[in-house]
Amino acid sequence: MSDNNTNGSSTPKIILPEVEINLFTPKKPTTATIAENYICTDDSSPNVIRHITIDLSGSGMEGIFRSGQSIGILPPGENEKGKPHKLRLYSVSSPSKGENGQPYLVSTTVKRANEEVDGVFYTGVCSNYLSNLKPGDSLMITGPSGKRFLLPENSEEFNYVFFATGTGVAPFRGMIMELIEAGHQGQIVLVFGCPYRTDLLYREYFEDLDSCHPNVHYLKMTSREDRRENGSKKYVQTAIEDYSELLSPILGANNTLVYLCGMKGMQTGIYEQLAKQGFLDYLNLRGDLEDKDPTEWTWEELKTQVKPSERTFEEVY
Ligand SMILES: Cc1cc2nc3c(=O)[nH]c(=O)nc-3n(C[C@H](O)[C@H](O)[C@H](O)COP(=O)(O)OP(=O)(O)OC[C@H]3O[C@@H](n4cnc5c(N)ncnc54)[C@H](O)[C@@H]3O)c2cc1C
Repeated sequence: MSDNNTNGSSTPKIILPEVEINLFTPKKPTTATIAENYICTDDSSPNVIRHITIDLSGSGMEGIFRSGQSIGILPPGENEKGKPHKLRLYSVSSPSKGENGQPYLVSTTVKRANEEVDGVFYTGVCSNYLSNLKPGDSLMITGPSGKRFLLPENSEEFNYVFFATGTGVAPFRGMIMELIEAGHQGQIVLVFGCPYRTDLLYREYFEDLDSCHPNVHYLKMTSREDRRENGSKKYVQTAIEDYSELLSPILGANNTLVYLCGMKGMQTGIYEQLAKQGFLDYLNLRGDLEDKDPTEWTWEELKTQVKPSERTFEEVY
Protein backbone atom coordinates (compact mmCIF):
# COMPACT_ATOMS: atom_id res chain seq x y z
CA MET A 1 0.00 0.00 0.00
CA SER A 2 1.49 3.39 -0.95
CA ASP A 3 2.03 5.94 1.78
CA ASN A 4 2.14 9.54 0.63
CA ASN A 5 3.95 10.92 3.66
CA THR A 6 7.10 11.86 1.93
CA ASN A 7 9.52 14.12 3.68
CA GLY A 8 11.18 11.46 5.81
CA SER A 9 11.44 13.49 9.05
CA SER A 10 9.31 12.55 12.03
CA THR A 11 6.23 14.38 13.30
CA PRO A 12 7.07 16.84 16.10
CA LYS A 13 5.66 15.83 19.47
CA ILE A 14 2.11 17.15 19.77
CA ILE A 15 1.90 18.85 23.16
CA LEU A 16 -1.71 19.46 24.10
CA PRO A 17 -2.37 22.16 26.72
CA GLU A 18 -3.72 21.27 30.14
CA VAL A 19 -7.20 22.78 30.24
CA GLU A 20 -9.87 23.27 32.86
CA ILE A 21 -13.03 21.23 32.33
CA ASN A 22 -16.41 20.92 34.05
CA LEU A 23 -15.96 23.78 36.50
CA PHE A 24 -19.73 24.14 36.29
CA THR A 25 -22.07 21.20 35.70
CA PRO A 26 -25.81 20.78 35.02
CA LYS A 27 -26.34 20.25 38.77
CA LYS A 28 -24.24 23.31 39.57
CA PRO A 29 -24.43 25.71 36.61
CA THR A 30 -23.55 29.38 36.57
CA THR A 31 -25.21 32.44 35.05
CA ALA A 32 -24.04 34.66 32.21
CA THR A 33 -25.53 37.38 29.97
CA ILE A 34 -25.96 37.73 26.22
CA ALA A 35 -23.64 40.45 24.86
CA GLU A 36 -24.54 40.21 21.16
CA ASN A 37 -26.56 37.99 18.86
CA TYR A 38 -26.52 38.51 15.10
CA ILE A 39 -26.90 36.53 11.87
CA CYS A 40 -23.56 35.49 10.40
CA THR A 41 -24.77 33.95 7.13
CA ASP A 42 -25.87 36.05 4.14
CA ASP A 43 -29.24 37.77 4.75
CA SER A 44 -30.70 35.74 1.88
CA SER A 45 -29.71 32.35 3.34
CA PRO A 46 -32.63 30.13 4.42
CA ASN A 47 -30.29 28.39 6.89
CA VAL A 48 -30.04 31.18 9.41
CA ILE A 49 -27.02 30.84 11.67
CA ARG A 50 -26.18 33.30 14.43
CA HIS A 51 -23.00 34.52 16.05
CA ILE A 52 -23.76 34.77 19.75
CA THR A 53 -21.42 36.36 22.27
CA ILE A 54 -21.87 35.65 25.95
CA ASP A 55 -20.63 37.96 28.70
CA LEU A 56 -19.11 35.77 31.43
CA SER A 57 -18.57 38.61 33.92
CA GLY A 58 -19.27 37.34 37.44
CA SER A 59 -19.82 33.75 36.23
CA GLY A 60 -16.53 32.35 37.51
CA MET A 61 -15.59 31.32 33.95
CA GLU A 62 -13.90 34.49 32.70
CA GLY A 63 -10.81 33.73 30.60
CA ILE A 64 -11.16 29.96 30.95
CA PHE A 65 -12.54 28.78 27.59
CA ARG A 66 -10.00 27.67 24.96
CA SER A 67 -10.84 27.60 21.28
CA GLY A 68 -11.92 24.06 20.45
CA GLN A 69 -13.74 23.59 23.76
CA SER A 70 -17.51 23.78 24.12
CA ILE A 71 -19.85 25.67 26.39
CA GLY A 72 -22.91 23.95 27.89
CA ILE A 73 -26.28 25.69 27.73
CA LEU A 74 -29.19 24.72 29.95
CA PRO A 75 -32.43 25.74 28.25
CA PRO A 76 -35.28 26.58 30.62
CA GLY A 77 -38.42 24.46 30.79
CA GLU A 78 -39.21 20.78 30.71
CA ASN A 79 -39.35 18.01 28.15
CA GLU A 80 -42.43 15.95 27.31
CA LYS A 81 -41.70 13.68 30.31
CA GLY A 82 -41.85 16.64 32.71
CA LYS A 83 -38.07 16.52 33.33
CA PRO A 84 -35.88 19.65 33.00
CA HIS A 85 -34.43 20.01 29.50
CA LYS A 86 -30.98 18.47 29.15
CA LEU A 87 -27.78 20.38 28.55
CA ARG A 88 -26.70 21.09 24.94
CA LEU A 89 -23.11 21.78 23.92
CA TYR A 90 -21.99 24.59 21.60
CA SER A 91 -18.45 25.03 20.28
CA VAL A 92 -16.55 28.11 21.28
CA SER A 93 -15.96 30.25 18.18
CA SER A 94 -13.84 32.92 19.86
CA PRO A 95 -10.09 32.66 20.36
CA SER A 96 -8.76 31.60 23.78
CA LYS A 97 -8.08 35.25 24.66
CA GLY A 98 -11.81 35.90 24.30
CA GLU A 99 -13.96 37.62 21.69
CA ASN A 100 -12.29 40.88 20.62
CA GLY A 101 -9.47 40.02 23.03
CA GLN A 102 -11.81 40.37 26.04
CA PRO A 103 -11.39 37.41 28.43
CA TYR A 104 -14.93 37.85 29.77
CA LEU A 105 -16.48 37.38 26.30
CA VAL A 106 -16.97 33.95 24.73
CA SER A 107 -18.71 33.38 21.40
CA THR A 108 -20.48 30.52 19.73
CA THR A 109 -22.16 29.91 16.37
CA VAL A 110 -25.69 28.55 16.51
CA LYS A 111 -27.94 27.03 13.90
CA ARG A 112 -31.66 26.72 14.58
CA ALA A 113 -32.19 22.94 14.56
CA ASN A 114 -35.56 22.90 12.81
CA GLU A 115 -36.63 20.12 10.52
CA GLU A 116 -39.59 18.64 8.77
CA VAL A 117 -40.14 14.90 9.19
CA ASP A 118 -43.03 13.29 7.29
CA GLY A 119 -44.79 16.61 6.95
CA VAL A 120 -44.40 17.53 10.65
CA PHE A 121 -42.27 20.57 11.49
CA TYR A 122 -40.09 20.13 14.59
CA THR A 123 -38.16 22.88 16.33
CA GLY A 124 -35.00 22.32 18.36
CA VAL A 125 -35.35 23.35 22.00
CA CYS A 126 -32.00 24.89 22.84
CA SER A 127 -30.88 26.28 19.48
CA ASN A 128 -34.13 28.25 19.15
CA TYR A 129 -33.97 29.38 22.77
CA LEU A 130 -30.42 30.66 22.25
CA SER A 131 -31.17 32.23 18.87
CA ASN A 132 -34.08 34.20 20.36
CA LEU A 133 -32.09 35.65 23.27
CA LYS A 134 -31.38 39.40 23.20
CA PRO A 135 -28.42 41.37 24.56
CA GLY A 136 -28.87 41.69 28.33
CA ASP A 137 -30.82 38.42 28.69
CA SER A 138 -29.34 35.96 31.19
CA LEU A 139 -28.80 32.24 30.66
CA MET A 140 -27.54 29.19 32.57
CA ILE A 141 -24.24 27.80 31.39
CA THR A 142 -21.84 24.95 32.23
CA GLY A 143 -18.36 23.89 31.22
CA PRO A 144 -15.85 24.13 29.85
CA SER A 145 -16.17 20.85 27.99
CA GLY A 146 -13.49 19.06 25.93
CA LYS A 147 -9.81 18.42 26.45
CA ARG A 148 -8.40 17.02 23.18
CA PHE A 149 -9.93 19.04 20.34
CA LEU A 150 -7.46 21.88 20.86
CA LEU A 151 -4.51 23.54 19.19
CA PRO A 152 -1.22 22.15 20.51
CA GLU A 153 0.78 24.25 22.89
CA ASN A 154 3.63 24.13 20.36
CA SER A 155 1.24 25.30 17.61
CA GLU A 156 3.99 27.06 15.66
CA GLU A 157 5.58 23.71 14.76
CA PHE A 158 2.67 22.53 12.59
CA ASN A 159 0.65 23.13 9.44
CA TYR A 160 -3.12 22.83 9.76
CA VAL A 161 -5.82 21.50 7.49
CA PHE A 162 -9.23 22.29 8.99
CA PHE A 163 -12.31 20.59 7.49
CA ALA A 164 -15.64 22.13 8.52
CA THR A 165 -19.27 21.66 7.60
CA GLY A 166 -21.84 24.26 8.71
CA THR A 167 -21.43 25.37 12.33
CA GLY A 168 -18.41 23.05 12.48
CA VAL A 169 -16.44 26.12 11.42
CA ALA A 170 -16.96 27.62 14.89
CA PRO A 171 -13.85 26.20 16.60
CA PHE A 172 -11.72 26.97 13.53
CA ARG A 173 -12.68 30.66 13.60
CA GLY A 174 -11.18 30.87 17.09
CA MET A 175 -8.18 28.67 16.32
CA ILE A 176 -7.32 30.54 13.11
CA MET A 177 -7.67 33.92 14.85
CA GLU A 178 -5.24 32.66 17.46
CA LEU A 179 -2.73 31.37 14.91
CA ILE A 180 -2.87 34.61 12.92
CA GLU A 181 -2.39 36.71 16.03
CA ALA A 182 0.66 34.62 16.91
CA GLY A 183 2.12 35.35 13.43
CA HIS A 184 1.91 31.69 12.39
CA GLN A 185 4.35 30.92 9.55
CA GLY A 186 3.16 27.42 8.63
CA GLN A 187 0.33 26.60 6.23
CA ILE A 188 -3.31 27.02 7.32
CA VAL A 189 -6.04 25.57 5.11
CA LEU A 190 -9.74 25.90 5.89
CA VAL A 191 -11.96 23.63 3.79
CA PHE A 192 -15.52 24.74 4.38
CA GLY A 193 -18.52 22.78 3.13
CA CYS A 194 -22.13 23.95 2.95
CA PRO A 195 -25.03 23.67 0.49
CA TYR A 196 -25.08 27.21 -0.95
CA ARG A 197 -22.73 30.18 -1.15
CA THR A 198 -25.14 32.16 1.05
CA ASP A 199 -24.35 29.67 3.85
CA LEU A 200 -20.64 30.50 3.95
CA LEU A 201 -20.09 31.46 7.57
CA TYR A 202 -17.77 34.36 8.44
CA ARG A 203 -17.07 34.51 4.71
CA GLU A 204 -15.58 38.02 4.62
CA TYR A 205 -13.22 37.30 7.48
CA PHE A 206 -11.83 34.15 5.84
CA GLU A 207 -11.69 35.68 2.36
CA ASP A 208 -9.68 38.62 3.73
CA LEU A 209 -7.27 36.26 5.46
CA ASP A 210 -6.85 34.25 2.28
CA SER A 211 -6.02 37.36 0.26
CA CYS A 212 -3.74 39.00 2.89
CA HIS A 213 -1.76 35.95 4.07
CA PRO A 214 0.01 33.76 1.48
CA ASN A 215 0.03 30.85 3.96
CA VAL A 216 -3.77 30.94 4.56
CA HIS A 217 -6.05 29.16 2.09
CA TYR A 218 -9.84 29.24 2.19
CA LEU A 219 -11.47 26.54 0.06
CA LYS A 220 -15.24 26.83 -0.38
CA MET A 221 -17.04 23.60 -1.21
CA THR A 222 -20.70 24.45 -1.92
CA SER A 223 -22.36 21.16 -2.75
CA ARG A 224 -25.62 22.37 -4.31
CA GLU A 225 -24.26 25.28 -6.27
CA ASP A 226 -20.76 24.74 -7.57
CA ARG A 227 -19.58 21.76 -9.59
CA ARG A 228 -16.27 19.96 -9.91
CA GLU A 229 -14.53 19.71 -13.27
CA ASN A 230 -16.24 16.38 -13.96
CA GLY A 231 -19.68 17.87 -13.15
CA SER A 232 -20.15 16.11 -9.79
CA LYS A 233 -20.85 17.93 -6.51
CA LYS A 234 -18.22 19.61 -4.39
CA TYR A 235 -17.93 18.30 -0.84
CA VAL A 236 -15.29 18.86 1.84
CA GLN A 237 -13.68 15.52 1.00
CA THR A 238 -13.49 16.21 -2.75
CA ALA A 239 -11.19 19.17 -1.95
CA ILE A 240 -8.39 16.65 -1.27
CA GLU A 241 -8.51 15.72 -4.96
CA ASP A 242 -9.80 19.01 -6.43
CA TYR A 243 -7.05 21.07 -4.80
CA SER A 244 -4.36 18.38 -4.78
CA GLU A 245 -1.72 20.79 -6.07
CA LEU A 246 -2.12 22.83 -2.89
CA LEU A 247 -3.11 20.08 -0.45
CA SER A 248 -0.90 17.14 -1.39
CA PRO A 249 2.40 18.74 -0.31
CA ILE A 250 0.79 20.05 2.88
CA LEU A 251 -0.88 16.74 3.79
CA GLY A 252 2.31 14.94 2.84
CA ALA A 253 4.42 16.95 5.29
CA ASN A 254 5.11 15.23 8.59
CA ASN A 255 4.29 18.34 10.62
CA THR A 256 0.70 18.72 9.40
CA LEU A 257 -2.33 18.15 11.63
CA VAL A 258 -5.86 17.54 10.36
CA TYR A 259 -8.93 18.80 12.25
CA LEU A 260 -12.51 18.11 11.30
CA CYS A 261 -15.69 19.44 12.82
CA GLY A 262 -19.35 19.48 11.90
CA MET A 263 -22.01 17.08 10.77
CA LYS A 264 -21.77 13.52 12.07
CA GLY A 265 -20.75 11.30 9.14
CA MET A 266 -18.53 13.88 7.43
CA GLN A 267 -15.45 12.08 8.73
CA THR A 268 -16.11 8.93 6.68
CA GLY A 269 -15.75 10.64 3.29
CA ILE A 270 -12.68 12.56 4.43
CA TYR A 271 -10.97 9.43 5.76
CA GLU A 272 -11.81 7.61 2.55
CA GLN A 273 -10.19 10.33 0.44
CA LEU A 274 -7.15 10.61 2.73
CA ALA A 275 -6.64 6.86 2.45
CA LYS A 276 -7.16 6.76 -1.31
CA GLN A 277 -4.57 9.51 -1.77
CA GLY A 278 -2.12 7.59 0.45
CA PHE A 279 -2.24 9.91 3.50
CA LEU A 280 -2.45 7.01 5.92
CA ASP A 281 -0.61 8.67 8.79
CA TYR A 282 -3.83 10.52 9.66
CA LEU A 283 -5.66 7.24 10.26
CA ASN A 284 -5.64 4.29 12.62
CA LEU A 285 -6.79 1.14 10.92
CA ARG A 286 -8.56 -1.67 12.76
CA GLY A 287 -8.99 -5.31 11.81
CA ASP A 288 -7.48 -6.45 8.52
CA LEU A 289 -7.73 -3.10 6.71
CA GLU A 290 -3.96 -2.62 6.68
CA ASP A 291 -3.68 -5.52 4.26
CA LYS A 292 -6.35 -4.24 1.92
CA ASP A 293 -6.00 -1.53 -0.73
CA PRO A 294 -7.99 1.60 0.32
CA THR A 295 -9.80 1.61 -3.03
CA GLU A 296 -11.35 -1.72 -1.95
CA TRP A 297 -12.52 -0.64 1.51
CA THR A 298 -16.29 -0.82 1.87
CA TRP A 299 -18.31 2.05 3.34
CA GLU A 300 -19.07 -0.16 6.37
CA GLU A 301 -15.34 -0.79 6.90
CA LEU A 302 -14.65 2.91 6.57
CA LYS A 303 -17.28 3.72 9.19
CA THR A 304 -16.27 1.13 11.74
CA GLN A 305 -12.59 0.31 11.21
CA VAL A 306 -11.01 3.65 10.32
CA LYS A 307 -10.30 5.91 13.28
CA PRO A 308 -8.41 9.19 13.65
CA SER A 309 -4.71 8.89 14.44
CA GLU A 310 -2.78 11.10 16.84
CA ARG A 311 -2.43 13.68 14.03
CA THR A 312 -6.19 13.92 13.46
CA PHE A 313 -8.68 15.76 15.66
CA GLU A 314 -12.35 15.02 15.21
CA GLU A 315 -15.47 16.64 16.66
CA VAL A 316 -18.71 15.65 14.96
CA TYR A 317 -22.28 15.96 16.18
C1 LIG B 1 -19.36 18.85 21.08
C2 LIG B 1 -20.57 19.49 20.41
C3 LIG B 1 -20.45 20.76 19.87
C4 LIG B 1 -21.55 21.35 19.26
N1 LIG B 1 -21.39 22.60 18.71
C5 LIG B 1 -22.45 23.20 18.11
C6 LIG B 1 -22.30 24.51 17.55
O1 LIG B 1 -21.23 25.13 17.61
N2 LIG B 1 -23.39 25.06 16.94
C7 LIG B 1 -24.60 24.41 16.85
O2 LIG B 1 -25.55 24.98 16.30
N3 LIG B 1 -24.74 23.15 17.39
C8 LIG B 1 -23.72 22.55 18.01
N4 LIG B 1 -23.88 21.31 18.57
C9 LIG B 1 -25.22 20.68 18.52
C10 LIG B 1 -26.07 21.17 19.73
O3 LIG B 1 -25.50 20.66 20.92
C11 LIG B 1 -27.52 20.70 19.68
O4 LIG B 1 -27.54 19.31 19.55
C12 LIG B 1 -28.32 21.32 18.55
O5 LIG B 1 -28.35 22.75 18.67
C13 LIG B 1 -29.77 20.81 18.60
O6 LIG B 1 -30.28 21.06 19.87
P1 LIG B 1 -31.77 21.60 20.08
O7 LIG B 1 -32.06 21.60 21.53
O8 LIG B 1 -32.01 22.87 19.33
O9 LIG B 1 -32.62 20.50 19.33
P2 LIG B 1 -33.40 19.22 20.06
O10 LIG B 1 -34.61 19.74 20.75
O11 LIG B 1 -32.41 18.50 20.84
O12 LIG B 1 -33.86 18.43 18.79
C14 LIG B 1 -32.89 17.80 17.96
C15 LIG B 1 -33.44 17.70 16.54
O13 LIG B 1 -34.57 16.85 16.51
C16 LIG B 1 -35.69 17.51 15.91
N5 LIG B 1 -36.88 17.00 16.62
C17 LIG B 1 -37.43 17.45 17.77
N6 LIG B 1 -38.49 16.67 18.11
C18 LIG B 1 -38.60 15.70 17.16
C19 LIG B 1 -39.47 14.60 16.95
N7 LIG B 1 -40.44 14.32 17.80
N8 LIG B 1 -39.25 13.84 15.87
C20 LIG B 1 -38.25 14.10 14.98
N9 LIG B 1 -37.40 15.13 15.13
C21 LIG B 1 -37.56 15.92 16.20
C22 LIG B 1 -35.41 18.99 16.10
O14 LIG B 1 -36.05 19.78 15.10
C23 LIG B 1 -33.91 19.04 15.98
O15 LIG B 1 -33.51 19.12 14.63
C24 LIG B 1 -22.79 20.68 19.17
C25 LIG B 1 -22.90 19.39 19.73
C26 LIG B 1 -21.81 18.81 20.33
C27 LIG B 1 -21.97 17.42 20.92
